[in-house]
Amino acid sequence: MQPLRVFSVAPKLPRPLEPLRELAYNFWFSWNPRIEELFAQLDPRLWRETAKNPVLFLNRAPQSLLQSVAADENYLERLKEARASLEQYTTRTTGGVPFPPAESGQPAVAYFSLEYGFSLSMPIYSGGLGILAGDHLKSASDLNTPLVGIGLFYLKGYFRQYLTPDAWQQERYPVNDFEQMPVVLLKDAAGQPLLVDVDLAGQTLYAQIWRAQVGRIALYLMDTNIPQNPEHLRAVTANLYGGGLEMRLWQEILLGIGGIKALRVLGLTPKVIHMNEGHSAFAGLERIRHYMKREGLSLEAALELSASTSIFTTHTPVPAGNDRFPSDLIQRYFEGYARDMGVAFKVFMALGREDPRDDSEHLCMTVLALKLSRFNNGVSRLHGRVSRTMWQRVWPQYPLEDVPIGAITNGVHAPSWVAPDMALLYDRYLGGNWREDPDCTRAWSLADTISDSELWRTHERLRARLVDFVRWKLRKQMESKGVGRRLLELASEVLDPDALTIGFARRFATYKRAGLLLRDKQRLFSLVSNKARPVQFVFAGKAHPADQGGKKLIQELVQFCQQEDCRMRMVFLEDYDMDTAAHMVQGVDVWLNTPRRPLEACGTSGMKALVNGVLNLSTLDGWWDEAYKPDNSVGWAIGQGEEYEDDEYQDFVESQTLYNILENDVIPLFYDRDHSRLPKHWVRRMKASLKELVPLYSAHRMVEDYTRQAYIPACENFDKLRQNNYKAAAELATWRMDIMTRWSGLQIQNIQTDAPAALTVSETVTVTCEVLLNDIKADHLLVEIYSGPLDTDGRFTSRLTFPMQPAGQPVNGWQRFEGQAQPEDAGRFGFTVRILPRHPLLLDPHALGLIKWGA
Ligand SMILES: *Cc1c(COP(=O)(O)O)cnc(C)c1O
Repeated sequence: MQPLRVFSVAPKLPRPLEPLRELAYNFWFSWNPRIEELFAQLDPRLWRETAKNPVLFLNRAPQSLLQSVAADENYLERLKEARASLEQYTTRTTGGVPFPPAESGQPAVAYFSLEYGFSLSMPIYSGGLGILAGDHLKSASDLNTPLVGIGLFYLKGYFRQYLTPDAWQQERYPVNDFEQMPVVLLKDAAGQPLLVDVDLAGQTLYAQIWRAQVGRIALYLMDTNIPQNPEHLRAVTANLYGGGLEMRLWQEILLGIGGIKALRVLGLTPKVIHMNEGHSAFAGLERIRHYMKREGLSLEAALELSASTSIFTTHTPVPAGNDRFPSDLIQRYFEGYARDMGVAFKVFMALGREDPRDDSEHLCMTVLALKLSRFNNGVSRLHGRVSRTMWQRVWPQYPLEDVPIGAITNGVHAPSWVAPDMALLYDRYLGGNWREDPDCTRAWSLADTISDSELWRTHERLRARLVDFVRWKLRKQMESKGVGRRLLELASEVLDPDALTIGFARRFATYKRAGLLLRDKQRLFSLVSNKARPVQFVFAGKAHPADQGGKKLIQELVQFCQQEDCRMRMVFLEDYDMDTAAHMVQGVDVWLNTPRRPLEACGTSGMKALVNGVLNLSTLDGWWDEAYKPDNSVGWAIGQGEEYEDDEYQDFVESQTLYNILENDVIPLFYDRDHSRLPKHWVRRMKASLKELVPLYSAHRMVEDYTRQAYIPACENFDKLRQNNYKAAAELATWRMDIMTRWSGLQIQNIQTDAPAALTVSETVTVTCEVLLNDIKADHLLVEIYSGPLDTDGRFTSRLTFPMQPAGQPVNGWQRFEGQAQPEDAGRFGFTVRILPRHPLLLDPHALGLIKWGA
């Protein structure tokens, strides 16, 4: 039985405190310590108990307290200032890269994600994907990006973790009380909740819509727990990643199809959608159907329009992490939908199949998204490469490096993750604008002017604060288990505020290899028990509720931490969440990460550590593969990016490397102090990583990359395709169909070059060929010299392409093309010719999957 919410009684805020309510309903407070303090300071304990939820906090605050604050001139003055700064922030018109003009108030981009993590008080995230989405919204807000978010509002959100006395993970699912959260239920003119509906195999699923205001950005969250739905459908938004395959399908139908419909109900007409993970791929379908039904476009034109204005980001390098639905299940839910779009069900299924002819293939949401979007990307350079390999079958004729999946590396929202003390330091040295300056490089270039001792003392204070937090949290954990007095007292003394502190916190997924550190327990033990140069560890993380292996790992780790000689130096904190994450990334000296390459798509917690001057120690996977510098000037790498056949052997080698780095590099460097006890060489690395890495791994940079590379081109494309009642979209569709039918008749012959058998580097060679146009216009073809060095088997090891131009008039349908190539390096060098389709409205010549190779 799902509890249906009842209305709650609003507190009586004394009039002078009314601005607090406004501040409470904008999540801007979650990255503005000055505003957070206005709440926290009233009653710090209540603030913590209410999980930093300002609405709940105001509802629970004793009336007497509110009355007395309402008479505090000083407080009211600060409140007024805070309100004015919110006003100023939300109405400012400057920001990042400007978008093409749109109707006033209309967003350009709708961002879709199944989870969002932007505040401790909104537990509708499970991990990296959600936090990333939250940081994306916050940076979009700071940069004034015209974007809205679409998601689901879960009654139970993600589970809370606690451990039994024998360290076995248990899960609790606290119920969210939406009425007491900083969100607003959207209603129509008659005061009734706005509803969207989607069809679930003949049943109608309704959802109401809540709005969470994240700075300038509106996030719309759909909620099915309403009386219009029968019991089993009310549960669609009960749990984040809960339920079986069919429930997942319902959620994804709601997110994708319901999300597009919700935009319409809200009167929003974004030109572009950004789908994150395959979860939201149905949004692409619904847009196509919308353009067919509402705008009268043909299927082909609607598809061109929708795909040319859709961005898809894949976040998972693990095949099992990509949703796949069997065809009979999809048939039940989408047969009518396909008919409505005018396509046979088999053709519909082919949209989600790597091999469209393989009837046994399930519908893969990632494949569907890839095919319904012309801007596809992974979330780090390495992950881009991995994704091209993983999804190569979607573009079967393509050489791997041309598979149209690019890379935009993730980033973190620095103002959210930086410790307030550090932020003050940055204010002084980088200038007050570092938080919102879209040009991160400019702001952070001043990082090396920060005073060494101030930076270090600030960092030490944060370490001390982490130690306090750990003690408090550990005590609370122990009290709830009813442990004895002696242990409770020890908890208050655990960790040393001056010792080298290493943090490790993440999902306990197998590939993250939390156990790597435990492989040689004796060696770990001697590190931890060293009195002269002590090392201590703080751990946190959840295992998926069904992952027995992950739970076992947690148990092993916790039991190791609990040994008599370790317990003062190794601590596992239960229930990893954004608050614990923030304390950890702000207070440790080293952030440790040990994923098995290449299974970490990007990883972001190391970047959160980065903004606080914390150094990273990690395998070369995800973002660290591109961020690490081999001179160790910004942190350390475990290994050199090797990939192994034998996991067991890899773990052995890499754990040894890890201990070696700790013993030989990290510990000596940390304890190498000058006469004022300052670790000069350590501080130099802190400053180098602030200066070199923070600007690159900032969510501002990420949002600007999406804006420049995808959002704006897609918006411009939308404007072009929409002209003259969508005439251009129809033209592009006709052109595409024509090209598809004519393509196989293209021929290339007579590839020739004037190159001598031996030439020197950088000498130009001329290449010519003849192409049988098969009635395709020459300027609709991109003819290229494809050249590069060859390996000993005569295969290209890398490639450069050079465009060729038509030369002279066609003869009997054969057109001569000519171009120049320039070998870059000495060695064996080869070339061939290839053709791609080209059209002014087609942004990426690779998008259609057509290619013709010279023999
Ligand atoms: C940042 C964060 C994550 C994701 O961390 P990764 O390093 O990307 O795995 C997960 N959970 C919480 C609470 C976080 O703050």
